[in-house]
Amino acid sequence: MERQSTWLKWNQEGKNKALEFCDRYKSFLSENKTVRKFLQACVKAAEESGYRRLEDYQQLRCGDKVYQVNRNKQLFLCQVGSHPLISGSRIIAAHIDSPRLDLKTIPLYEEENLAFFKTCYYGGIKKYQWLSIPLSVYGTIVLKNGEKKEVCLGEKPGDPVFTITDLLPHLAKDQMKKTIEEGFPGENLNLLVGSIPDSREEKEPVKNFLLRWLKEHWGIQEEDFISSEFEVVPSGPARDVGFDRSMLAGYGQDDRVCAYTAFFALLGLSQIPRSAFCILTDQEEIGSYGATSAQSSFFQFFLEELLEKEGGSSREKRLFFQNSRAISADVATALDPNYRDAYDPRNAARLGCGVVLERTIGGRGKAGSVEPTAEYLAYLRHIFDKNQISWQPGEMGKVEQGGGGTISTYFARLNIDTADCGVPVLSMHAPFEVTSKADIYSAFQAYTAFYQEG
Ligand code: MN
Ligand code: MN
Repeated sequence: MERQSTWLKWNQEGKNKALEFCDRYKSFLSENKTVRKFLQACVKAAEESGYRRLEDYQQLRCGDKVYQVNRNKQLFLCQVGSHPLISGSRIIAAHIDSPRLDLKTIPLYEEENLAFFKTCYYGGIKKYQWLSIPLSVYGTIVLKNGEKKEVCLGEKPGDPVFTITDLLPHLAKDQMKKTIEEGFPGENLNLLVGSIPDSREEKEPVKNFLLRWLKEHWGIQEEDFISSEFEVVPSGPARDVGFDRSMLAGYGQDDRVCAYTAFFALLGLSQIPRSAFCILTDQEEIGSYGATSAQSSFFQFFLEELLEKEGGSSREKRLFFQNSRAISADVATALDPNYRDAYDPRNAARLGCGVVLERTIGGRGKAGSVEPTAEYLAYLRHIFDKNQISWQPGEMGKVEQGGGGTISTYFARLNIDTADCGVPVLSMHAPFEVTSKADIYSAFQAYTAFYQEG
């Protein structure tokens, strides 16, 4: 099957629309590098677009726009359609957490007049990619009295940044002989944070200088790290890539590129036949185990409330599931010509050739794949073609090269038809992930079409 570049399919007006859309996405991505910040920005946009909290509704009617937040980390939105909920809905779910470095519980220490924060990586990273680059720190600290502090350092012009050092090549003879896994031990990912000693302290003077700084500027003590979330992420904004500015690179596009496109597709809907849901979730990159992950029961509670406020019964949940259709909107891998051997070129998606509909993402014997039925894949193909969406089929890589997982399984297991469909990415999970603006806008159009079709 030939994959044609989306840029050849669109006229100038179409291209301009895509470029404008991606400018807004680029700012949103740059300003919202943590789950909490991304969620807050979405809630603000949703409220401006007429969404109200679930508890503000006594009764739900066609056209109502509802949202609910779980623990500041997970967002559920629904626009009520003209058909009753039990006749099924259209659900798009994406995750808003991204691979990063978290501070350890007791992070601060000093060695050789240098102070460091110990980190533990969150999600699957290639460790060497995080060395010798400018990094910023985001923190949410909750004191014992419940007071919450939000801090950030390393993003504003003039801010200092942080970094993780790497061994100079002149002395790297032993390191270069090791495998990439062994050459960069996780325990060495220590963030350089200061070097001035406090002249009044004999013991740990550099660490004590920084503790004083933290007390003075952020109002926290060393123990407060225990009830905090500190995330270390690449510093700086997302950027256009290429002479033609056709691509975009930045931190956290997995999976905020699908979250953004799905969320704004929902916000752009006018009247729809079936209720449309957008679910933005946390903890995908670490296996979806927590209360704010896609495995949490929160979705079912949200749904039960909706059913009752529509005048039905929460017992009708099973009918809702059976009649609903879902897209797990998560990034796909694009064939990287520099590493062609990892892919099956016939079945790999290409950057710039449209949003990717994936039959399977599991590795080896399709391990972990939800395997949508041929009937459901036909339904999606039909909708995309009918709405002139630029899309392509794609599988992850060579059968025995690896594989991935998404949150699709947590919707499929509820008896909802679910397929993976998302934006292809180069350098996935790297500090600077690359996407095509044509694919970003195609995803937005595909998700809009999915919501609108009855
Ligand atoms: Mn993902
Ligand atoms: Mn991922």
